[in-house]
Amino acid sequence: MSVQLRQSAPLSRVEQRLARRPHKPKVTGSSPVSATMKKPHHSGHYQTLAKRVVNAARANPNAVCWRDGLPLDHHQPHHNGKPATWTAGHTVDGNNAATPWYNVTQRPPLPGNWLAPEASTCNYSHGNNKTNPNSRRW
Ligand SMILES: [Zn+2]
Repeated sequence: MSVQLRQSAPLSRVEQRLARRPHKPKVTGSSPVSATMKKPHHSGHYQTLAKRVVNAARANPNAVCWRDGLPLDHHQPHHNGKPATWTAGHTVDGNNAATPWYNVTQRPPLPGNWLAPEASTCNYSHGNNKTNPNSRRW
């Protein structure tokens, strides 16, 4: 009968997996972490990336806001009457290591850590809710 054969196959696979358990080399803390290098702060590099994302969105009439997937002219103007403009928004709040998203006609895949085009109204209303509840009129 083939019962024995069929049983032995999955067993041996398990054995293989157990035998091949990946050894993690122990990190002894001696790895040269460059603590003296300049910190990845809000540097000029970030400003450059943000500018590039904004410019890419401005240059493309089909660009969409990553937050709601809407083009710029589908966004309400600001309360002071100023039209919404493109900004570079973080899909992860306050994360400086975001990857710039230049494929501006599409929303970036989420969850993900992106610096993506975002309408100023979406960007500001998101941050304003904590400090300025009076600005919420809708
Ligand atoms: Zn939006």
